[in-house]
Amino acid sequence: MIKIKGKATGELAVKRLWLPGLQEHVKCPNCGHETWNDLNGDHINYPMLGKWEEHGHYCSECGHEWVFDMKINITVDVRES
Ligand SMILES: [Zn+2]
Repeated sequence: MIKIKGKATGELAVKRLWLPGLQEHVKCPNCGHETWNDLNGDHINYPMLGKWEEHGHYCSECGHEWVFDMKINITVDVRES
């Protein structure tokens, strides 16, 4: 049996990270408009693993910009073939 132990932390050592298949859905704190960002189109610069970092968001309805915290965790699954 193969097990992965520990937790991925630290710098991911990539300049830009795109996350295909993930979108952030958020309600604008200024106008209440429901908006979303495709994380495969809006990349993350110099991502860190397991650490809360500020992430910017823009409302296409009213132009309001704000930040919230985002943390990237990576899991690795294995199976015997
Ligand atoms: Zn707005």
